[in-house]
Amino acid sequence: MLRIYSDEISEKYFDKELKLEGWLQDLRDLGKIVFLVVRDRNLFQVTCKGDLIKEVRAIPKESIISAKGVIKGNEEVMNGWELLLEEVKVLNKAETPLPLDPTGRTPADLDTRLNSRIIDLRRRDVTETFRNRTRVMREIRDFYYDEGFIEVNTPKIVRAGMEGGATLFKLDYFGTPAYLAQSPQLYKQMLMGSGFDKVFETAPAFRAEESATRRHLSEFISVDAEIAFVEMGDVLDNLEGLCNRVLERAAGIKLKEFPRLEYDEALSMVGREEMDRKAEVEISEKVDDDLFFILNYPAEEKPFYIMKKGERTNSFDLFYKGLEISSGGQREHRYPVLCDNIKESGLNLEDFKYYLEPFRYGMPPHGGYGLGFDRFIQAMMGLDNVRETVLFPRDRFRCHP
Ligand code: ATP
Ligand code: MG
Repeated sequence: MLRIYSDEISEKYFDKELKLEGWLQDLRDLGKIVFLVVRDRNLFQVTCKGDLIKEVRAIPKESIISAKGVIKGNEEVMNGWELLLEEVKVLNKAETPLPLDPTGRTPADLDTRLNSRIIDLRRRDVTETFRNRTRVMREIRDFYYDEGFIEVNTPKIVRAGMEGGATLFKLDYFGTPAYLAQSPQLYKQMLMGSGFDKVFETAPAFRAEESATRRHLSEFISVDAEIAFVEMGDVLDNLEGLCNRVLERAAGIKLKEFPRLEYDEALSMVGREEMDRKAEVEISEKVDDDLFFILNYPAEEKPFYIMKKGERTNSFDLFYKGLEISSGGQREHRYPVLCDNIKESGLNLEDFKYYLEPFRYGMPPHGGYGLGFDRFIQAMMGLDNVRETVLFPRDRFRCHP
C-alpha cells in the first residue's frame, strides 16, 4: 500500500484507506477512545476504538509504528483530518524511559539535550535551526556563484599554523607533527596568485579554544572569501552585499547599509581605551543597526597578513547583534613588507616558505574575510548559545556524540 507523508494529505484522500508511518509521540487515553499523536515530517492524529485500544496502549512512546486506516475529514482535530485506525504494526519498539522528552514539555538543559541530540532533534523548534542553516548556506553559495566566484577546498591537515600556536590542534602525521587548519587564510591568499581572482570556501575550521564561552567552538564552519585586484572598500561592499542578500532571501530580513565606524570613533562612543569584549558589547548597544563594521584596527590587534596603514591597518570586524561574525580586510601583497611583518610578529620565515613563494612571482593586491557561519545563524535566530546551531558541537569539554 502507498506510503505518503501526513503533510501530503488533502481532501482527495478523505474516505480512502492508506498507511501512515512514523514515531508514536503521544497517547491520549479517554477509555473508550484513544488518540495517538504520530510524527512523520509533521504531527497527525490517529484515532483508535474497540479491540485496537489494548494494542496501542502497550506501545511505548517514540516507537516506530505503521498505521493503516481510513482518512476522515474532521475540522475539530489538527490538520482537519484524522486516521481511523484499522491495523497497527510496531516496526521498531523504543525502550523506556526515554533519555529526553521529545515534545519539549519536560525542559532539559542544553548539555542533556546535546548528549541525546538525535532525540532532541525530533522537536520541530530544534530542527528549525537546521532548516535555517540549509536556507542560509544555499543563499551564501548562490551569492558567490552569481558573483563569479570559484568554490575551492583547501587542506585541513596543515604543516604550519598561521597566527601562532596557541589554538592549534596538533596531530601525528606519519610520525611528523601537523595541525588541523585554524582557517584557510594562507591557501586562499596563495590562490590569488593563480589567476582564480575570486574564491570562496565553506569548511570546518579548528581552534583549540580553552575558554568556554557561548560563542566559541573547537570546530566551526567558516565561510571564507578572497578577491584579487581590490581594496578594503570593495571587500566591505562584498561582505555587506552577501549579508544583505542572504538575510533577505533566507529570513525575510531587510537591512539598510551597515554603519562603518572607525576604530577610535567606536571606542570613544563608549568612553573606552581597549577593544575588548565588554567594549564590543557596549558599542553594539549604542549602535541602532543590528549589523555594523568597525574599521582600521591597530596593527597589534591584527595578524601579519593584514596591510598596515600608518599606525592602523586596512582591517575590519563585522558585528551582528553584539557578536563578532566576521574579520577581514586588505592583505599585504608586497613580498618584502610581508616578510617584515612575519618577522615582527615573532614568526619564523622558513615556516612560511610555501605561502610566500607566490608573492615573489606576481601576486595581485587582494583582500577578503572569514565569516563564522554558526555565529551568523546564532545572531540571525537570536540564540543564546552557538552550540544550539550545530548538530554535534565540539568544545573544550565535549567531543561526543
Ligand atoms: P573571537 O575574537 O570571537 O575569538 P577571532 O577574531 O579569533 O574570534 P577570526 O580569526 O577573526 O576569529 O575568525 C573569523 C570568524 O570566525 C570570526 O569572526 C567568528 O565569526 C568565527 N569564529 C572564530 N573563532 C570561532 C570559534 N571558536 N567558534 C565559532 N566561531 C568562530
Ligand atoms: Mg576576528
